Amino acid sequence: MRHDPSPYPERVNRLRAGISENDALLILHEKNIRYLTGFTGSDGTLMAGRDWLALLVDGRYTTQARGEAVGTEIFEFRSRVDGITAVAGERAVGAIGFESPSLSVEDYLRLQEKLPGAVFSPLSDGLRSLRAVKNEEEIALIRKAALIAGEALAAIREMIRPDVREKEIALELEYRMRRGGAEQAAFETIVAAGANAALPHARPGCRAIAAGDCVIVDYGAVSGGYHSDETCTYIVGPASERQREVYRLVREAHDRAIRAIRAGVTCGAIDRIARESLEEAGLGAHFSHGTGHGVGLDVHEAPRLAAGREDILRAGMVVTVEPGIYLPGDWGIRIEDTVLVKEEGCEILTPTSKELTVL
Ligand code: ZN
Ligand code: ZN
Repeated sequence: MRHDPSPYPERVNRLRAGISENDALLILHEKNIRYLTGFTGSDGTLMAGRDWLALLVDGRYTTQARGEAVGTEIFEFRSRVDGITAVAGERAVGAIGFESPSLSVEDYLRLQEKLPGAVFSPLSDGLRSLRAVKNEEEIALIRKAALIAGEALAAIREMIRPDVREKEIALELEYRMRRGGAEQAAFETIVAAGANAALPHARPGCRAIAAGDCVIVDYGAVSGGYHSDETCTYIVGPASERQREVYRLVREAHDRAIRAIRAGVTCGAIDRIARESLEEAGLGAHFSHGTGHGVGLDVHEAPRLAAGREDILRAGMVVTVEPGIYLPGDWGIRIEDTVLVKEEGCEILTPTSKELTVL
């Protein structure tokens, strides 16, 4: 693995390319700040001018910021608004582009009040794809997260049997991932059995697994800040003909979408392939979410593989493919892999086989 000693200058340059008529950009999303400077604190503000970079933190984070952040001045302030006001005043910043999804309305109104001469413009789309293409180091971390998670699932799979509760399985899986080297679970692990499997975002509860259940396990690990995301659906025997058939159809939609992934294809086209595959089978109405999403410092990030998305897949993007069919009150089946987009095709990073497994 090639080790790039500092990926940050190139990232900041890419950020600045989108500065347009602004004097400075205000970055508030913690993962974007981490991506641009290496600072891993959970609160802070990054201001980027054309030739300067200022990280504003409160007293809880000053020492950490000095130890971690690369290529930026560090300022300690009591409040975000005071810090931004001071730096903007000192550097005669007139036009400020801000990360609108991450600035509260309250802070926005206070900034307007404190900087009456400044013009604020939202950067709703501009930053969205900043982190979409991963470098080798990022890919290695996602790969590692996926392997840690996969090994943990393999170790607990025999727990998926009648009379074991969803929660016990989820807890054991998270424990194994952390024992295996994960910093944490990528999100609250989903173990959903029977009718709960018909809820795309079920939370594991006290329901005990019963014979004939579909059991959806949607889980991931975090390694070096990077996430993995994978879903396996098991059928606890006996499996009905209908369950086997729907599994085969979801798998077919998943496989067709993955076969179509390569640099240059739009995200919407991949979604359409998965969707049409299930529509052909008469199941389109039961596929109620997008086909996938980018994965990186956040478990859900750009790009989105959903209907109508014109974003173009590029080599180095890491995205999920996760078609699912949900039959309310009955059961559901979802199959998800995380894949690395390449010039010709893609590579599946999540290690677990998606062959139908009847336990
Ligand atoms: Zn998932
Ligand atoms: Zn996902």
